[in-house]
Formats: sequence, C-alpha cells, structure tokens
Amino acid sequence: MSIAENLNKINLRIAEAAREAGREPTEVRLVAVSKTKPVQAVQEAMAAGQAIFGENYLQEMRDKVGQAGPGPQWHFIGHLQSKKARQAAELAHVIQSVDRLKLINIISKRAVELDKQLGVLIQVNVGGEEQKSGCSEADAPALCQAVAEAPNLKLMGLMTMPPFFDEPERVRPIFARLRELALTLAPNLPQGSMDELSMGMSGDFEAAIAEGATLVRVGTAIFGSRY
Ligand SMILES: *Cc1c(COP(=O)(O)O)cnc(C)c1O
Repeated sequence: MSIAENLNKINLRIAEAAREAGREPTEVRLVAVSKTKPVQAVQEAMAAGQAIFGENYLQEMRDKVGQAGPGPQWHFIGHLQSKKARQAAELAHVIQSVDRLKLINIISKRAVELDKQLGVLIQVNVGGEEQKSGCSEADAPALCQAVAEAPNLKLMGLMTMPPFFDEPERVRPIFARLRELALTLAPNLPQGSMDELSMGMSGDFEAAIAEGATLVRVGTAIFGSRY
C-alpha cells in the first residue's frame, strides 16, 4: 500500500469513528507522525493532501521542515529537553509535549523574540504511570494557567500518551480521563484554550475519537513500521 492509500484509509476510519460517536468528522484532525521516515515520505503525504505532521526529534524535524518547504504545519510531539526548547519554539507551529514550567518560560521568550504565536498543548501523564514525559494531573491546572498567561503562547488543550498503548482496553479510560480533566480546567481558562485533545495512535485512534479526541497522532498505519 502506498502512503496515499494508507492516508485515504485512515481518513475514512477517522470519519467513521467520528460518526459512530455522534461527532462531525471535521472535528478530528490527523497528525501524520513522520518520525524516522525520510522527507520523501512527508512529500508523498503532502501530495495526498496531508497538512499536519508530527515529529519527535528536533534534529530530524529541522531537516524535514527545511526540505519540505512551506505548507505543512509541524507539531513537536516528543520528549522536550530544556536545552532543545528554544529550537522547538523556532521550528514548530505547535508543541504538544509541554510538561513543566521551565519549558513554558523558554519557549515563550523565544516566541516573543521571533514575533510568532506558538500553539501549546500540555502533556499529561494520566494515571501517573512511570514514564519520562507528561505532568501529573495535579500539576496540570497551574501549567495551563502559566501557558495561558505567557506572551506569544496559545494554549490549545491537552495531550496524552498512554504507557500501555498496545492494550486498547486499558487506554480507553485514560482517554476518558483526559477529556474529563480538560472539562474541569476549561472554566478557569480563556475561552477556547481547552478545545484540543490530542490522543490516540495507530492502534487505538478510534477509541480515542470515541472519547473526544480532536487530534490523533498516527505514524505506523500511514508510513509503515519503524525499525
Ligand atoms: C510515535 C508516536 C506516535 C505514533 O505512533 P504509531 O503507533 O506509529 O501510530 C504518536 N504519538 C507519539 C507521542 C509518538 O511518539
């Protein structure tokens, strides 16, 4: 199957999952996760109409942003080290993996210097499993508030990455909890700043859509497996 065929299939499945959940298919946007894949794969997806790409590694993202040229929107979705945060603010349209105050300060400062508006999702480690990325649910309110108040940052919502993404029956409650958290936070934040829920990957994006995902991050099912 070509990348174009895979994209077509995924978009149909997204639309179907949305309708089954009583939602409009246009409420769900596909982030094509192109990590470890060459820029040719990105260009093939762009030619097939794909508009949003997700990357986990900054060096790789920088190469592809340069080579792919203007057009696509780039989302940084990987674990972000403080020393790389300035660069992430330069390259990305949206950073989905913001999980601590220090990052917020760095990327806001850089966005101001660049005179750009940078979209931000707070990554939450729902359920508190052992993993390197994501703030605790308890820390989420303060971090959201900090982004909402930070110059040149636009708070868009929440992101989560379940640790056991290979077990669909265990991820669904995690997705539900992220949505509930966003609903709890929204009244205390500026209008529209909890609109996005980034959750769901190749193996579980339909369950995520059933629980309210607005951004699904799909890699393998579009570009094939990574080695
Ligand atoms: C790699 C990755 C994805 C995509 O995973 P697939 O299983 O290949 O669809 C989504 N989100 C994050 C944060 C990732 O690192």
